[in-house]
Amino acid sequence: MAEYTAPDPIVDVTGAQEVADDLVVVPNQGVQLVPNIGVIGGSHSVLVVETGMGPRNAEAVLKFAAEYAKGRRLYLTTTHFHPEHSFGAQVFAEEATYLVNGAQAEERAAKGAGYLAMFRGLGAPVARQLEGVELGVPDTVYDRSHDLDLGGRVVRLRGTGRAHSRGDQVVTVPDAGVMFTGDLVETGQFAIFPWLPPHDADVSGIRWIEVMRRLAAERPRVVVPGHGDAGGARLLADVRAYLELLRDETWARRDSAVGEETIVEEVRALMIERHPDWAGREWIEPGIGCFCAEHPDDSGEE
Ligand SMILES: [Zn+2]
Repeated sequence: MAEYTAPDPIVDVTGAQEVADDLVVVPNQGVQLVPNIGVIGGSHSVLVVETGMGPRNAEAVLKFAAEYAKGRRLYLTTTHFHPEHSFGAQVFAEEATYLVNGAQAEERAAKGAGYLAMFRGLGAPVARQLEGVELGVPDTVYDRSHDLDLGGRVVRLRGTGRAHSRGDQVVTVPDAGVMFTGDLVETGQFAIFPWLPPHDADVSGIRWIEVMRRLAAERPRVVVPGHGDAGGARLLADVRAYLELLRDETWARRDSAVGEETIVEEVRALMIERHPDWAGREWIEPGIGCFCAEHPDDSGEE
């Protein structure tokens, strides 16, 4: 088993921060494979966004959320099916209603077991957190968008269409101007491209850029990314600029019939030069691979 050198992927609820009235974020504090987690309150109900990876992390999140809710009804949603975001949902089964978009539910059913096996192979600290995971199914599945009334506050849940994954979902709290993006946005790191053909080739750089354009038009006050510090609408613009640069530099070389190995080498160096302080450099190459496959001459799509 590969050596996992990052800190154990454990959610620490003690760092919870209020980012708006009755709305807290449990930040991932820079720990890999820990997502930012949201708890959004209304007068009669509370929505939890993301479970953390595995049942023990999810138990800590549920305990925190139940104490926060003080008797209010609990809902759970997840931004996409990836293990650190949703592979703890089973713990909420008796306590909360688990609600997601249809594309996410389908992707979870199709790929959940494969991702569970793949993540267990990342190293012992990850495998430990994944012990006892049962994938299960959400309680409620909506099609494209759903307005969830928490009492005096309506939260908008929307599937964005394929981008970082096949079933990405964005959660917005309009009265507070807060947007949870999941892994469509990360702070201080290169965009995560789970481009793993032939096992998983659902990530789409082109569609991702389009989603960023649409989300930015909503001008959120606070953007809570999948991982890394929350910030303003600028975070959306930063991701879009990176994705567009990655696309343009990749395609320019593809147009000049440069070999894929050289494209990777040159574009990777350029991206690191542009963002020397960003983590996750290992995600640049799959991003280039994805855009190569989406080059207009290669792709079967319009
Ligand atoms: Zn993800």
